[in-house]
Amino acid sequence: MDVSPLLEGLNAAQREAVCAPLSHRLILAGAGAGKTRVLAHRIGWLCATEGFRPSQVLAVTFTNKAAREMQQRIRALLAEVEPGYGAAQGMWVGTFHGLAHRLLRLHWRDAGLVESFQILDADDQNRLLKRIVQDLELDESRFPPRQAAWWINGHKDEGRRAKHIQPTDPITRTWLRIYEAYEATCERSGLVDFAELLLRSLELWRQHPALLEHYRLRFPNVLVDEFQDTNTIQYAWVRLLVGDSGCAFVVGDDDQAIYGWRGARVENVRRFLDDYPHAATLRLEQNYRSTGNILDAANSVIAHNHSRLGKNLWTSADSGAPILVYSAYNEMDEARFVVEDMERRRAESSLRFADLAVLYRSNALSRVLEESLIGRGLPYRIHGGLKFFERAEIKDSMAYLRLIAHRHDDAAFERAVNTPPRGIGQRTLEAVRHVAATRQSSLWESATWCAHDGGLAARSKQALDRFLGLIDQLDGDTRDTSLAQRVDAVLDRSGLRAHYGAGGRGALEDRSDNLDELVSVASRYMPPDEDPIDSELAAFLAFAALEAGEAQASEDQDSVSLMTMHAAKGLEFDVVYLVGLEEGVFPSHRSVDEDDRLDEERRLAYVGMTRARQQLVLSHAETRRLHGSDHYHMPSRFLREVPEHLIQAVRAAQRPLSAYPARVSPPPNAHDELPKGMKVGDRVVHPKFGEGTLTEAEGSGAHTRVQIVFDQAGSKWLVLSYAPLERATRRS
Ligand code: ATP
Ligand code: MG
Repeated sequence: MDVSPLLEGLNAAQREAVCAPLSHRLILAGAGAGKTRVLAHRIGWLCATEGFRPSQVLAVTFTNKAAREMQQRIRALLAEVEPGYGAAQGMWVGTFHGLAHRLLRLHWRDAGLVESFQILDADDQNRLLKRIVQDLELDESRFPPRQAAWWINGHKDEGRRAKHIQPTDPITRTWLRIYEAYEATCERSGLVDFAELLLRSLELWRQHPALLEHYRLRFPNVLVDEFQDTNTIQYAWVRLLVGDSGCAFVVGDDDQAIYGWRGARVENVRRFLDDYPHAATLRLEQNYRSTGNILDAANSVIAHNHSRLGKNLWTSADSGAPILVYSAYNEMDEARFVVEDMERRRAESSLRFADLAVLYRSNALSRVLEESLIGRGLPYRIHGGLKFFERAEIKDSMAYLRLIAHRHDDAAFERAVNTPPRGIGQRTLEAVRHVAATRQSSLWESATWCAHDGGLAARSKQALDRFLGLIDQLDGDTRDTSLAQRVDAVLDRSGLRAHYGAGGRGALEDRSDNLDELVSVASRYMPPDEDPIDSELAAFLAFAALEAGEAQASEDQDSVSLMTMHAAKGLEFDVVYLVGLEEGVFPSHRSVDEDDRLDEERRLAYVGMTRARQQLVLSHAETRRLHGSDHYHMPSRFLREVPEHLIQAVRAAQRPLSAYPARVSPPPNAHDELPKGMKVGDRVVHPKFGEGTLTEAEGSGAHTRVQIVFDQAGSKWLVLSYAPLERATRRS
């Protein structure tokens, strides 16, 4: 057996970690120092030299994608060590959720589940809680289902069931009632939510010592990547499995702890050392991923954080290209710049699309980028998030628009009729479906009949009738308004905005943000001139339907990656574009007043920047249409925290182009009259920014945007029809 492949491509510190004797280890190291690589080689080493079979290894990764890559890597390493080695069969490599799920499938009976138990995703969980809050006759505005989900998941993540909670006040008592009713329903219906997967498998081990013993014997080695982002229950799970006999090998970076908002506890790093006092800590300090400039920039930003464990991270790589910073007029200009820069780089080098990634703070920022990529025909994939038009809340909204445009769209009917829930029960719907089937009519027609002539209870008839009336009224009342106003009215009057809107932190905020973004998309939308469809709404629906199905590249196609910085953890790309670096966007406006949250945002910036191998491109936009309205944002403090000597500013293009180059109407020239009787060159007044000169215009009609160079406030892009602009009275 030749173990040298296991040690090749490792520096001395990495080798020490890989070949360490069997005892607990903590590897603490900055981004790109080879933690994940060490983990894979360690597994190979354990199998090749310590006599373990791959099936005796359990490794936890942060994503399913990382798990697949890890398995392939180990398989390849073992094949090099000894051709014909029994591959990596039987190895347990996966996420915490994935591994817990596997355990529950194997031991469903001992876990007290039914064999056919189903996983409840976050969306289903909210739906279920909504029903429970209603069944308990509680005030939904005081006990929003989303907050109930947050409360319950939070307790489960800390290992607490309803029976462990001692309510001290009436409010807590009510949350507890919801938790109890939810537990009972899940139990009855064989449903398991994400937090439950872990809690249930932990209890399985606790309550069945023989089973736990079996797994301890089976997995003497437990390895965890991205350890800094484990939460309480995940830590307890690892601790229980390792016990006194096993061996834990965990790797992490406190500077990359970015899931505090979801209950992750970076203290677990210290706790590990308390719980395993003999554990050796090893540090890796050489970064192999990035150029010197990228590393210096990232190190400078993270240095602004409080309470760090502190590390030195260096590279022997050249300083490389400077960090590029682009200051865009608006989000469309930013997207145009990114896409053009990608095209230019590809023309000049052998970069694949897959070497390029765009990272952003929240999914709501991806829309404009998608439009630009589609416009230039560049293949792309959104990772770790659905495409905009595939998201549940967007599909729900589109279902209303589809019904408004076409009453007999049965799929849209099915989706809209009880989203948000409006008291139309399953039995009523079954009756409607039955009538439709026997009469060969659409659900809409059948519902109309059921609401008036069918044999339904009066309450069901009323509920149905209210829904039908809502669609008719929405259609009638909004027919003469703009597309954006139409969408806005649908979101409000359907109740979708209230349904998805009720508070929450982190990822939960995204949904209501996305609804607002749909209004922005509608306001930017321009029907193609040559299109035979005469209604703007119909054209918009066709645009959405085509986009949802086709624009995104398939899994194996060479394509640009788009994702949030959270989803980019552990990954690397030659060129990384970090967009939307604006105060209030990143750091998010919810974090700027709290040190802890601001520190977590900064760690996220560190994660984002350190994804880049060769080139880091940062950008911010002066104005951004987000969540349905235009905002002016200062450049992010994270930009200022990058030392100036590392930065090269990119000169702005002469004319900001629209993100829809194929469809855009030609920019008006200086003599064309704009709405409000204005034209390029005019002097104008704005109540807040004062007097200025109109220097540029793009788009047409209600979509016209203009650039004003204000005498005092600098240059701004404004949507003319919304901006409170007046023509200045001419001075003599
Ligand atoms: P992150 O904190 O972002 O998860 P990491 O510490 O897990 O980073 P890896 O992804 O394992 O780092 O490694 C970063 C890059 O450096 C990878 O491309 C890896 O193959 C490469 N690398 C790691 N160690 C070495 C080495 N000794 N020689 C050459 N390349 C290395
Ligand atoms: Mg890693």
